Amino acid sequence: SASSVPTSSHVIQPDVRVRGAREHNLRNVDLTVPRDALVVFTGVSGSGKSSLAFGTLYAESQRRYLESVAPYARRLIDQAGVPDVDSITGMPPAVALQQQRGGRSARSSVGSITTVSSLVRMLFSRAGHYPVDQPMLLAEEFSTNTVEGACPECHGIGRVFDVPEEKMVPDPTLTIRERAIDSWPKAWHGHQLRDVLVALGYDVDVPWKDLPREHRDWILYTEETPHMPVHSRLTLAEAKEAIAAGAEPTYSGTFVGARKYVLDTFANTKSAGMKRRVAEFLSVETCPVCHGKKLKPEALSVTIAGRDIAEFSALPLHELTTLLETEVAAAKAGMEAGEGSDAHDSDGGAHPSAEKSAAFVRLGEGLVERLRPIRDLGLGYLSLGRTTPTLSGGELQRLRLATQLTSDLFGVVYVLDEPSAGLHPQDVDALMGILDGLKARGNSLFVVEHSVDIMRHADWLVDIGPGAGERGGEVLFSGPTAGLAEVEESVTRGYVFGDRGLEPHPPREPQGRLRLEGIRRNNIADATVEVPLGVLTAVTGVSGSGKSSLVSQALPVLVGDRLGAGTEASEPEPEGDDLLLVDESEELAGTVTGDLTGIRRVVSIDQKPIGRTPRSNVATYTGLFDHVRRRFAETPEARERGYKPGRFSFNVSGGRCPTCEGEGSVMVELLFLPSVYTECPDCHGTRFQSSTLEVLWRGRNIAEILAMSVEEAHEFFTGEFDIIRSLTALIDVGLGYLRLGQPATELSGGEAQRVKLASELQRSQRGDTLYVLDEPTSGLHCADADRLVAHLQSLVDAGNTVVMVELDMRVVAVADHVIELGPGAGRAGGQVVATGSPAEVAATGAGPSATYLAAALG
Ligand code: ADP
Ligand code: ADP
Ligand code: ZN
Ligand code: ZN
Repeated sequence: SASSVPTSSHVIQPDVRVRGAREHNLRNVDLTVPRDALVVFTGVSGSGKSSLAFGTLYAESQRRYLESVAPYARRLIDQAGVPDVDSITGMPPAVALQQQRGGRSARSSVGSITTVSSLVRMLFSRAGHYPVDQPMLLAEEFSTNTVEGACPECHGIGRVFDVPEEKMVPDPTLTIRERAIDSWPKAWHGHQLRDVLVALGYDVDVPWKDLPREHRDWILYTEETPHMPVHSRLTLAEAKEAIAAGAEPTYSGTFVGARKYVLDTFANTKSAGMKRRVAEFLSVETCPVCHGKKLKPEALSVTIAGRDIAEFSALPLHELTTLLETEVAAAKAGMEAGEGSDAHDSDGGAHPSAEKSAAFVRLGEGLVERLRPIRDLGLGYLSLGRTTPTLSGGELQRLRLATQLTSDLFGVVYVLDEPSAGLHPQDVDALMGILDGLKARGNSLFVVEHSVDIMRHADWLVDIGPGAGERGGEVLFSGPTAGLAEVEESVTRGYVFGDRGLEPHPPREPQGRLRLEGIRRNNIADATVEVPLGVLTAVTGVSGSGKSSLVSQALPVLVGDRLGAGTEASEPEPEGDDLLLVDESEELAGTVTGDLTGIRRVVSIDQKPIGRTPRSNVATYTGLFDHVRRRFAETPEARERGYKPGRFSFNVSGGRCPTCEGEGSVMVELLFLPSVYTECPDCHGTRFQSSTLEVLWRGRNIAEILAMSVEEAHEFFTGEFDIIRSLTALIDVGLGYLRLGQPATELSGGEAQRVKLASELQRSQRGDTLYVLDEPTSGLHCADADRLVAHLQSLVDAGNTVVMVELDMRVVAVADHVIELGPGAGRAGGQVVATGSPAEVAATGAGPSATYLAAALG
């Protein structure tokens, strides 16, 4: 377009120019966007926004950075891939903040990822109140992740593991040969342990309970691991005879005590299955020394305002701020009064010195400053100690954003992925303030967004489309937002200029009601909620008000318990470190009354990953891959070779590539740099052996099928009813752009949720299900959201009940019933502040949603 600069007042920097971008579906895109501006990338899901913003602009900036700091990183860059683009000029160094996908460590917390914790440790070290005679501790000694600070009993885990005899030996009437020790390995290794016991002179053929106590204790608890020649599978008497007769021992075996076996395996095994198995023999208790606080006693004896560092870190950030402000003010007053007053130590003891008060003021004020952007982004309800696996992707991204705000960087471009995800419109206003702040400091912002409010707020809009995948990949518009009004092809246009929206559904009458009383979960304390049946209910409220706690945690569990059958919530099995995860959420309680006759199932469709390994993908999860493999096995070629459906699986050996075991990639360790995955040299990423790939169905091999997008596959599989049904459901939820083989680990929370929803939609509907969804439209362009809502409406039309968390007031406006939680976040929330039809809530609602809802109702 002719006007290549935004109309805002600040000085315009040279532009960023992209020529010939062809990453993924981009069609040789040329683009010019201003620097020092808020540039928003829009378009339907799969149109190519991320391919342009992250895959091209950010990737190129990253490549140049790597090249400049480490010429030897060539290899890394080659492996990470160079974006397919002719040229990019004027691109500043980039910082990307994406919604995290996949694994997070239970050891990282709000405090550690924002680095606020290090400041808190400093505060406790330098300005905390120490018991008389206790020397000052170093900041590291307040960290649970250091040897210096961790509780010596539990090593900073807060819990201790025990392996109780009742668990290891569930049936003491059995003999060891009859597998009395349930925790021992089953197969060959189990025999070996028994053979060694016999060689050591223990009787393995008397009931466990009849063995002498000291024998039982040694077998269970010894730390010794004797290694000795043994005779295989003999009784004690036979073994004695064999030894007496000088018979040649069968082999040499090593003994491991039953407890040691469990603990060692739990700590060291690489197999998730083994880990799960031995975990069953562990009992977990709160550490008796630190009471779950994870720190050594000396560190916990240091306090500020009567709180130790663990209690301090458990406070919601807005309460922490108030506490610090009060204490800092008091310390200042004390200093002015010219004496070492005890202002910041309400728990008595010696007066702090003037230096200590000064340190307290300086560090305390710094801390309040660091907390401000976190609170401004609507996250004041979190505590520093909250572990990252319990946070949503949006919360995590906003925390990272808040951290950037205090980092004093300028002249960089921040590339953000839907920062408004999970935000109530009221919180979006605050977010825009933060983005403006970053811009004012001399940074550029490239933001992939679906929020119409943020599009309207942008200096520059880049609209990509018109459709997804093959039908997208073109820049329809690039310029100041107002200009989009002229672009007829743009799906986004109608939403930004307000003449497109969801058709309201004729209001429905509830078919009955559920009454949930005395609900307790996280910040919900003794709430009562009525859920109308046979209608679409939207639960809204500011972030942190308790929507997820109510809708995705309490509701399905309570109703599921009442139904007796449990829920069909698709929870992935806990793996690896998850087993160590402390679930900090509070007990769930409540009772359900009302008419449950119309409800047979509860299905909770959440944003948790559909699988933790690259082995599960869209095709396997929806079950369509089973059908595809069967088609391949039915080909004459496959039958001639004797290939069964399993041959076409990459999860079992047979047809998959043996080098990468069907992963398609292998890990490369790099000196000084994080290890990277690189394409498998043998199968070149196809995951299969070449012999498997020789079998074709309609001219394509199995790897080529996995590389297809859902939409391509939909055309390709014409006439194959079972396969088409799954593919149609995926397209209906806006996932037509996903590749069939796209690993589950690459899906965002919203995409994973829509895959689950599609799997549900492909089932035949019996009209007796309660569907529970948490923010199903997050991450969706308005047009995709509309399509999704139309499907939810059809589920309700078929007699089902849908309850969903929803923050987009356009969508809330078309629900039959609205429940608003609030009024605030965390402890200031957790109550029902408004219920009724959308119009009723808009007109009379006491919560922050009323005005936004009224605007959406027009
Ligand atoms: P958006 O961000 O607009 O939702 P994307 O840029 O993620 O869209 O995707 C655009 C197109 O590129 C889609 O057709 C998608 O399937 C394809 N695509 C995305 N990532 C990859 C990838 N890693 N490999 C191949 N194709 C991809
Ligand atoms: P919303 O869905 O409205 O954003 P949530 O239900 O996620 O709110 O959170 C409500 C409150 O419960 C917040 O104070 C939050 O910090 C707390 N909370 C939610 N999940 C957990 C958890 N797993 N552990 C501890 N606190 C939690
Ligand atoms: Zn401890
Ligand atoms: Zn391979």
